[in-house]
Amino acid sequence: MNAVQEVITADVLIAGGGTAGCSAAIAAAREGARTVLLDMDDGVGGVAVRANVSDYHFGSRGGLQNEVDRRVKARQNILGGREAISHPEAKRSVYGELLSDCGVRTMLGHLIYDVLVEDGAVVGVLAAGPEGPTEIRAKVTVDCTAEGDVSAMAGASYSVGRQFDGVSHSYSLCPRIMLHNPKTGKLRLHLKNFDAGWVHSPSAEDVSRAYQEGRRHLLNLLESGKTDVHMLSVAPKLGIREGRHIVGDYVLALDDFLHDRHFEDVIARAFSYYDTHARDLGNESDFAQIWLVMLDMTEKKGLWCDIPYRSLLPGGVEGLLVSSRALSVDRDVSMAIRMQRDIQKIGEAAGVAAAMAVRLQVKPREVSVPDLQRRLVELGVLNEPDLIRTDTANMQFRKGELAERSLSPELVSQLPPAEALTLARLLAERLGAEEQALAVWWLRLLGERAAEALLEAFGREPASCANAESEEAAGIEHAARACGAPPEVELASGACGAPTSGCRMAAMALALLGRREAEPVLLHMFRSRLNGRANPGSYPEWIAALAALRLMGSKALAASEIVAALHEKDYNTGICSMLLQYLETVCGEVKAEDRDKLAEGLLQWSSRPGIGDNYVPPEADAQLSVRWNLQMRTGIIVARLGLGRQGRGLCETWLNDERVSVRRAAAKALERIESNTRTETFEQRGDNAG
Ligand SMILES: Cc1cc2nc3c(=O)[nH]c(=O)nc-3n(C[C@H](O)[C@H](O)[C@H](O)COP(=O)(O)OP(=O)(O)OC[C@H]3O[C@@H](n4cnc5c(N)ncnc54)[C@H](O)[C@@H]3O)c2cc1C
Repeated sequence: MNAVQEVITADVLIAGGGTAGCSAAIAAAREGARTVLLDMDDGVGGVAVRANVSDYHFGSRGGLQNEVDRRVKARQNILGGREAISHPEAKRSVYGELLSDCGVRTMLGHLIYDVLVEDGAVVGVLAAGPEGPTEIRAKVTVDCTAEGDVSAMAGASYSVGRQFDGVSHSYSLCPRIMLHNPKTGKLRLHLKNFDAGWVHSPSAEDVSRAYQEGRRHLLNLLESGKTDVHMLSVAPKLGIREGRHIVGDYVLALDDFLHDRHFEDVIARAFSYYDTHARDLGNESDFAQIWLVMLDMTEKKGLWCDIPYRSLLPGGVEGLLVSSRALSVDRDVSMAIRMQRDIQKIGEAAGVAAAMAVRLQVKPREVSVPDLQRRLVELGVLNEPDLIRTDTANMQFRKGELAERSLSPELVSQLPPAEALTLARLLAERLGAEEQALAVWWLRLLGERAAEALLEAFGREPASCANAESEEAAGIEHAARACGAPPEVELASGACGAPTSGCRMAAMALALLGRREAEPVLLHMFRSRLNGRANPGSYPEWIAALAALRLMGSKALAASEIVAALHEKDYNTGICSMLLQYLETVCGEVKAEDRDKLAEGLLQWSSRPGIGDNYVPPEADAQLSVRWNLQMRTGIIVARLGLGRQGRGLCETWLNDERVSVRRAAAKALERIESNTRTETFEQRGDNAG
């Protein structure tokens, strides 16, 4: 590497000029800090401009972005984008003007490749530009690289991807297209945002590959004639939704988001929903399964959330703030906290905090939070009531008696037993009716104190089963009685012979309490392949029951039943992923003499042509293949069933895949096989010793 050509000094260095970075830089400069903005690309705006994802989706308004949006709207008209939903060039040019108006020194084409750390504090970075390496020294650095590059280089901890296989959220390579406006008949500018696959974003090799994969996917789509568009261009930048999550002084957790926990150090409010694009939920978190599979919370309903200042402070590193989508949130929360508006606001707050630290000659960690909040209120990033808020609209009922109450986890946990039971009864009345999923959620938080009300709910409705003598009805009768329905009460069976939706939801709620009484109804739902959901994005109820059984720790479904289900039909990959996940949890129960046969049946299934090829990502008219992840889970199970060589073989096949995320997933699967083998050997030794 050549010697450093130039040393630049600044008060505040903003690393990365996406929407977070531009907001941070403008905010810091307006607060009086000498500010330098670095970006490796040849334009500012990041994915919002260069990945063609310029539309807002949820997020909260306020602050600097209101000014940006007004100017972008006016600029769009000049650009001939009157019919466009938004025009990326408009935002880029507005950002450019605002940055130069407030004196930000913007250095494009500069890749940050190293960080300067002195006494545990970041004091600048090294960047490679067209003229060679440049050293940029600053009193405070704000990491807005989206990947948390600077924080990671400075030694901050981080996580990438989901727990099971390390795979991150899917990426998109979005084309700009022209569409016919059905009203005017004119062509209008639009973008097409569809998922093209998975990428391991910290790997340049994989990002390079993904550009090609995305293009191929797009061309296939156009070639198939399934979409009637006139393509203008493909985005010059890959649309990466998820990469590193830096571990900060506080990691924003799921309950904080769902219940809108108030933080004393709130610096912005975000507004979004659990926006996962994953369709293979058997590989996602337990929460994803509770929320989307069991409770069918597929409606896009926004939730508010405080962003604490501590989520912007990378753990153990001084002189640095992390903004952008790499901020300190857990993976589930990252599905919600990534919308442009929110990211812009968080960026602005980071810029103001950085300038304040410089002005007062303190570390970012020592900034007076009340002073910062006061300034953010003046700027419209926060509202005064945000600072003293005691309640929330999140997870509240909109209808009926429950709408008059303001529920919170704290309130629910402190209710005396009698009041808890009254609330549980009110909630149980909602099962089978509107807002039933919300009711299950609160019943779950009531815990054991809700069990009595739930068991009552099984026997409330009169039977209307047309064919009470049928075998199925008898099965339900048995199931519901086993659930605790008193003998004198008629059962909650619908005309179709299945338990009513109220009874089924009560079973879901009981399962979330870990109560075995739910088991018979859930087994019935699974075995009758109950498919009672209208929303095309929903998982069928028999799979919801399967998720419930797994989460309550039930092993009542035999492994052979799961393998039979896999064979019976070409289910979509989401269903297959759920079946396989359950199978992994019960395969230890299979008798020694049945193991080979079962493993062979599974191997046969996984080698079927087309297996895993019917994964349909959101808004795509084309399919992707997740054969790799179905086969890896199969490999893990087969190895547990005793066919170690075949199981490992299935995973090893993917070790040479061109996709880094697939290779990493294969390595993780092999690790899992090894660790299962070690545990089993240890247990066997223990048995022998005993
Ligand atoms: C495909 C896709 C669709 C989306 N759809 C929507 C939507 O419809 N509505 C919505 O509100 N939100 C949407 N989002 C989310 C939102 O757009 C992003 O989360 C947000 O814009 C991210 O902004 P950012 O500044 O954190 O990151 P980015 O925009 O990625 O900016 C990071 C910047 O840092 C630079 N950089 C990175 N590393 C370095 C380095 N080492 N050296 C120098 N520079 C570096 C990059 O070049 C880039 O300019 C979408 C996101 C994606 C990916």
